[in-house]
Amino acid sequence: MALRVGLTGGIGSGKSTVSALLAGHGAVVIDYDLLAREIVEPGSPALAAIAERFGEGVIAADGALDRPALGAIVFGDAAALADLNGITHPAIRDLAAHREHEAGPDAVVVHDNPLLVEMGADAHCDVVVVVDVPVEVQVERLTALRGMTPDDARARIAAQASRERRTGAADLVIDNTGPESELALIVGGIWSELASRAAARREPDGD
Ligand code: ATP
Repeated sequence: MALRVGLTGGIGSGKSTVSALLAGHGAVVIDYDLLAREIVEPGSPALAAIAERFGEGVIAADGALDRPALGAIVFGDAAALADLNGITHPAIRDLAAHREHEAGPDAVVVHDNPLLVEMGADAHCDVVVVVDVPVEVQVERLTALRGMTPDDARARIAAQASRERRTGAADLVIDNTGPESELALIVGGIWSELASRAAARREPDGD
């Protein structure tokens, strides 16, 4: 079985940067932002279930999901959000399992999932890696590099799991406060660790 690595981090923490570095070392990366889009493509069972629960108003004229319309319904409505997650999360999990299977038994598979902890998926990983920066650094990068206002950045950060909850679930924490050159060195070290764990599992007497 592939080594299953969960990768998560708060918005703007550098998770995608880490995942690209790991892919460069040879990891098979499953990007959950992409999976979340794929499972609601026109004609998909998840999109049909969403339309049934929230009404045809969440389907755009071209048959695709109208994200702003759906967002307006679920924003601030915990029960509606739970219903939506009840439709999308199982579909995302199934597709991720399929992709992991396709990667083969020797792969190091990185589940790049911003909601890893919120979905409880950390419990099913062999190794959980969390990219961590102080909230001030998140705000600084989101405003400088993504054009958000500080208030918008803070609101998005507040809507996610807390830094403490995320790092509490981690086996390995990557401190991405320093420059990207330093991040590359840290990720290189983590790759060595992951590759040796994957190799140990392939040994006849390994665990
Ligand atoms: P999101 O959750 O929004 O997808 P993310 O956690 O995937 O964000 P990235 O997109 O990897 O974060 O990084 C956010 C921004 O910060 C990017 O523009 C990235 O180039 C930059 N960045 C990442 N690491 C560093 C670093 N160590 N120093 C400076 N900038 C960085």
